[in-house]
Amino acid sequence: MAEKFKVPRGTFDVLPQQSAERERVLAAAREIFGRAGYRNIQTPSFEDTALFERGVGKSTDIVRKEMFTFEDKGGRSLTLRPEGTAPICRSYVEHGMHKLPQPVKLSYAGPFFRHERPQAGRYRQFHQIGAEAIGSDSPLADVEVISLLSDLVEELGVPGVELRLGSLGSLEARTAYLDELKSHLRSRSDDLSEDVRDRIEINPLRAFDSDDEGTQGVMKDAPHLLDHLSTEDSEHFAEVRELLGAASVEYVIDPTLVRGLDYYTRTIFSFVCSHLGAQSEIGGGGRYDGLISQLGGPDTPAVGWAAGIERILLALDEEVEIPGIDLFIAVAGPDQRAKAVALAAELRHHGLAVEMDLAGRSMKGQLKQAHRTAATHTLTLDEAGAAHLKGVEGEARDVEPAELPELLLRN
Ligand code: AMP
Repeated sequence: MAEKFKVPRGTFDVLPQQSAERERVLAAAREIFGRAGYRNIQTPSFEDTALFERGVGKSTDIVRKEMFTFEDKGGRSLTLRPEGTAPICRSYVEHGMHKLPQPVKLSYAGPFFRHERPQAGRYRQFHQIGAEAIGSDSPLADVEVISLLSDLVEELGVPGVELRLGSLGSLEARTAYLDELKSHLRSRSDDLSEDVRDRIEINPLRAFDSDDEGTQGVMKDAPHLLDHLSTEDSEHFAEVRELLGAASVEYVIDPTLVRGLDYYTRTIFSFVCSHLGAQSEIGGGGRYDGLISQLGGPDTPAVGWAAGIERILLALDEEVEIPGIDLFIAVAGPDQRAKAVALAAELRHHGLAVEMDLAGRSMKGQLKQAHRTAATHTLTLDEAGAAHLKGVEGEARDVEPAELPELLLRN
């Protein structure tokens, strides 16, 4: 026997019985984005590798070890997108979106790819939804995008979610703090994990995120960026907090919050779910005021987030019932097949969900199949070509096929 195939490591099939729940998340997100004027944008699944090296940052885990990078036949280095913000900024610059009224409010949904070690809630192909408000430095923009994710979590009924909020300050103001943090790390370097020690110079902030015990000990008395914000950054952060209050979004301040991408400035946030295990973040993001200019565009402040659909589904841990169809058509014999096909086509054009037997089943088998499809009505075409309609409850009654659309649509 020929060898069977399996999905590649870290990936999964979304089977029909799992689609309804996923669709519910996407539909809720679409609705929330639409209500606030965030319009859908779609970028390719792969981009120039350099876009991520420059956009996400060379010192990040993503760029150092998690990218699916390959060379195309023309010798270009391409990478399956590990995240959505850098591609959207590329598109903003490429299409001159800075000439549009600002901010440009965008939303997206789709697959992303990271070569991570697979575990519950962590995959090599996963799906994110996200929103970006590009072209405003107002705290109003921070609060609007945060509210979108907060609304989504609430409307879906994701349990046990907490919003953690922090600020990284602007890039320039951060330098002095980073020097202080680096010397703290250097002075205790023996207690740090190897990974953190290797990155003291290039990415010291990530030490806050380490799950290594020694490192955590060192970080307990590390200086916090929140205590070192410039006056302007500190005022911006205060306004974000105040406006979140006005929008009735609850949060906790987390002075140790950091994110895995280099581009963040000022506000950062993370929605964490206590019902999830090690991979407890449902979604997060922040401000990235320097990214667009880093990608060759004009100086443009921006803020956004991404949330993982699989994490949301894990946290919800429920199956949405697949809705039944409107009508199943059963035929007494081959003579009625043509009539059934024509009727099914006509009713589907009316917008009804209609199925019929495709496997040559007996009448009994067809009725069983009708039951499996959870059809609210079954129509049987008898030997004489007469049609009988039966609801889930009640007696069968004779009907004229012409009256069916009205009868069923009223249902
Ligand atoms: P990030 O783009 O790293 O800021 O991640 C944003 C969100 O995407 C996270 O909060 C997760 O919900 C989700 N996510 C990131 N990486 C993965 C992954 N490897 N597998 C599943 N979900 C992920």
